[in-house]
Amino acid sequence: MLEVDNVEITYNDVILAVKGVSLRVPDGQIVTLLGANGAGKSTVLKSISGVLKSQEGEIESGEITYDGKRLNGISPEKIVHLGICQVPEGRRVFSDLTCLENLKAGAFTRKDRKGVKQDIEKSLGYFPRLQKTFHVKAGYLSGGEQQMLAISRALMGSPKCLLLDEPSLGLAPLLVKEIFSIIGRINLQDALSILLVEQNANMALQVAAHGYIMENGRIVMDDPCARLRKNEDVMEFYLGITAEGGKKSFADVKHYKRRKRWLS
Ligand code: ATP
Repeated sequence: MLEVDNVEITYNDVILAVKGVSLRVPDGQIVTLLGANGAGKSTVLKSISGVLKSQEGEIESGEITYDGKRLNGISPEKIVHLGICQVPEGRRVFSDLTCLENLKAGAFTRKDRKGVKQDIEKSLGYFPRLQKTFHVKAGYLSGGEQQMLAISRALMGSPKCLLLDEPSLGLAPLLVKEIFSIIGRINLQDALSILLVEQNANMALQVAAHGYIMENGRIVMDDPCARLRKNEDVMEFYLGITAEGGKKSFADVKHYKRRKRWLS
């Protein structure tokens, strides 16, 4: 179980980006963290994976634990060793390395060569599109293929808990569907816990079991996804669907965002 307990995070000692966030990712579950741009979602992920420091970020208070072990202040390498891997936003693959080399780089913490080979096969099973690009430099892959490679590379570290930052970003709807269905399969087949940060609430609420909604650095709502999908505010604000079942226009949603007060 991954637990974030009442965490406050600042950047450069002054910008309070996360204001007392608590969330839990039970073993084997997909949990999603939703919210608009700048809500603080990525900052929460970075605090878990330990990369905040490199970006002038600091956990000021609160605690992050994984299987009862405190993660505050632990280096990103040690956190990977504990079984937590992050797939950062923007599918940052090593563009001058081939797909195969990217996958091998993801296994840098491992000594079991046979296991690594098996996991490469397994990744190709999850993402068959990567088979034909296996020896191609990652920089030449399409956006969707790069996202698939980024997820596969994280899987090569044999994680128990995956932190996924906006896997749908900039991808065509069909590809997003494909990637989310594979995320669901990976969770089921490998019993992998996943904390999924997304702006595509529609897809995230379908694949996850529990959802948290974040605004301006705080969690303003959390519930099982089945309930969030039926919540009128979530439907209107995040899914763009009115109570009557119609779709809202982008202008309507923008207007709604302005008048909505989650924290009244
Ligand atoms: P997005 O969906 O756009 O990625 P987000 O919800 O993930 O948004 P964060 O990236 O966590 O939001 O940013 C939260 C706040 O912290 C924002 O106001 C952002 O400008 C600020 N912030 C993020 N990274 C830094 C940084 N390295 N230095 C200073 N401020 C930062």
